[in-house]
Amino acid sequence: MQLTQPEVNDFRRTLLAWYGENQRPLPWRRDRDPYRIWVSEIMLQQTRVAAVLYRYERFLERFPSLERLASARVNSLLAEWSGLGYYRRARHLHGAARILVRERQGVFPQTASELARLPGIGAYTAAAIASMAFAEPVPAIDGNVERVLRRIIGKRQRRRDLRDAAEQILDRSRPGDFNQALMELGATVCLPSRPRCPACPIRGFCSTRGCGELRQLKPRRRKRNITYAIVQRQHEIILVKRDPGSRLLPGMWELPEVDNEKGKTWFSLRHSITTTDFTVYVVRLAGLPGGGRWIKMSSLDMLPLTGLARKILRVAGIIQSL
Ligand code: SF4
Repeated sequence: MQLTQPEVNDFRRTLLAWYGENQRPLPWRRDRDPYRIWVSEIMLQQTRVAAVLYRYERFLERFPSLERLASARVNSLLAEWSGLGYYRRARHLHGAARILVRERQGVFPQTASELARLPGIGAYTAAAIASMAFAEPVPAIDGNVERVLRRIIGKRQRRRDLRDAAEQILDRSRPGDFNQALMELGATVCLPSRPRCPACPIRGFCSTRGCGELRQLKPRRRKRNITYAIVQRQHEIILVKRDPGSRLLPGMWELPEVDNEKGKTWFSLRHSITTTDFTVYVVRLAGLPGGGRWIKMSSLDMLPLTGLARKILRVAGIIQSL
């Protein structure tokens, strides 16, 4: 990206003015508190904004400070995370909170390089927190920003070149706003499949305007059928705890998986995880030959349930919460 200094200034001004008028009023943009920004950034990893909105406010009500998060039991954290998926993020959040309280008296490091040493904080997240909370002039390059930059530059770029371009255009006096402006542009205008170029504030700087970009192949999706049983008595239901050493969702609670017998399905639903689309059948059984534990239904809300278990229990009318 070869821009003269006046062009760079113009680019910054144009983008920031657009952001000032068009940004979505997201709750984590209300202040510069590193704790709140950190929680939002971790929640937003691989998760849509709409899904995070409700969870974010609830999470902060339950864990309003770093100290409260560090002293919480990991199970109550996982219960609050339920439905967001990628539970390793919650464990990392908990681990990092404990490190910050134990080793730094609850004070966040202020640079991206120090933040990136904490569990669950990669290069992008570290730069996002450092720029938004502490105004460190570092570019934060997430998937949205990478797409915007590739389209603006218009040629196949190595990651290092993208980073150089991001460094060049970054507004050093307002790095947090500038990073968020580029992300916002990617999330609302420079969309993955159909960029809204006529509405784009920086179309004058863009060499592709959405044309001729290199399409990335989508990973092939697999299809799988799976059956779960609902076994309940008056106030209890049988659940199974996943192995704590399991690679996926360790220690979370789910419904017992069973073989499907023809004609027994109570209801079915669809559920997608990374590259697999599941058709989930749910059957009601009077008992279970082995495994599982009777759990009081009144305690389900406090239990770290898998997202799928929560979804099934909601459709079955057993729980109300999201
Ligand atoms: S002009 Fe189109 S392709 Fe270029 S940055 Fe704007 S929305 Fe994206």
